[in-house]
Amino acid sequence: MSPDTFSNLFVAALLATLFIKVALMLRQRHHVRMRREQVPAPFADSISLESHRKAADYTCARMALGIVDATIGAAFVLALTLGGGLQAMHQGLAAWFDAGGLAHGIALLAALGVLGWLIELPFALYRTFVIEKRFGFNRMTPALYAADVAREALLAALIGLPVLAAVLWLMGAMGEHWWLWVWLFWFAFNLLGLFVWPTFIAPLFNKFTPLADEALRKRVENLLARCGFRSRGLFVMDGSRRSAHGNAYFTGFGAAKRIVFFDTLLDKLSPAEVEAVLAHELGHFHHRHIWKRLAVIAATSLALLWLLAWLMEQSWFFAGLGIDDGAGSTAVALALFALVLPVFAFPFGPLMSHWSRVHEFQADAYAARQASAADLAAALVKLYRDNASTLTPDPLYSRFFDSHPPASLRVSRLRVGS
Ligand SMILES: [Zn+2]
Repeated sequence: MSPDTFSNLFVAALLATLFIKVALMLRQRHHVRMRREQVPAPFADSISLESHRKAADYTCARMALGIVDATIGAAFVLALTLGGGLQAMHQGLAAWFDAGGLAHGIALLAALGVLGWLIELPFALYRTFVIEKRFGFNRMTPALYAADVAREALLAALIGLPVLAAVLWLMGAMGEHWWLWVWLFWFAFNLLGLFVWPTFIAPLFNKFTPLADEALRKRVENLLARCGFRSRGLFVMDGSRRSAHGNAYFTGFGAAKRIVFFDTLLDKLSPAEVEAVLAHELGHFHHRHIWKRLAVIAATSLALLWLLAWLMEQSWFFAGLGIDDGAGSTAVALALFALVLPVFAFPFGPLMSHWSRVHEFQADAYAARQASAADLAAALVKLYRDNASTLTPDPLYSRFFDSHPPASLRVSRLRVGS
């Protein structure tokens, strides 16, 4: 392939992706806005018109921001590649570091990470302090936000930089099969993360206290016994420090498994509803969704690393993305790959969303067997209401972006079942 052909292909894919994204978000906005004045029939008893309107306005506000965000993001990728940004960074950093060396590569990728974060920052701030605040979800003070950023930066430096160094070193030192070594390293690192995260990292950001409510505790323990699930404890997390959105999840593997309830969830739901929500989470465990997902991620990352190894041998990959021949270092290749991959991977989004929705239905069905379908339906209605999730998503938008099935489908299935 000639560099020009690849450039054209890349620009066409970038514009097509942006166009589809924006069109879908506009559709979603229109669809939701047209249904703002009427609560859908299945929810007429449980959701007020006021809550329904709030959900519509919340969805529209987020779509408007999403459109600007997607456009700026595409411009950023274009500026770094064909605009010569990455090439300029590569040359600029060569003044401080030995060009093509390990330190130079780490500096380039770190600089790219910081730059990407800076571009995203105004959107993140607007989301938290304008949109989430306007709809009454934000509990974060600017001081807490700054402290979070500091902690995340420290973690990125302490963990991210050594990992990056290891990857770049493997890419340079392991000969033509480096992709296999990087994959093994990356996979081991991720598995380790699953053990380390709940015990060491998550407590840096939130407080976890053992579930104190005796009655709820008994209920949950009965459910766990019924489902044959062993865990290392039930915890309540102070999610209310940052947001009013509620959730429940379990983390870790094997003996390190722990179940975590957001305090905001326990405030909103009755004990029977909490049990049903947890039964849904256990459904994911029962159906081994986490392992299946991990297997797909492992296979995909292996294929992608192999692809990267192949692309690094093709001069059109660098030249077609605005990089001079001499700059074909491993770090540059990695940076280009990270920038370009989302553009070409976009069509796979609906496939992953579909798979995820199948899992959600399976988990719902499991919860209906192990707990009460009526309680799960009631809990979902409360969560949709309190999270201001729209009950009337555009079907096409939903197919692309929603990891969970539309509320109306989930609730109606549960009601039929109960
Ligand atoms: Zn789920």
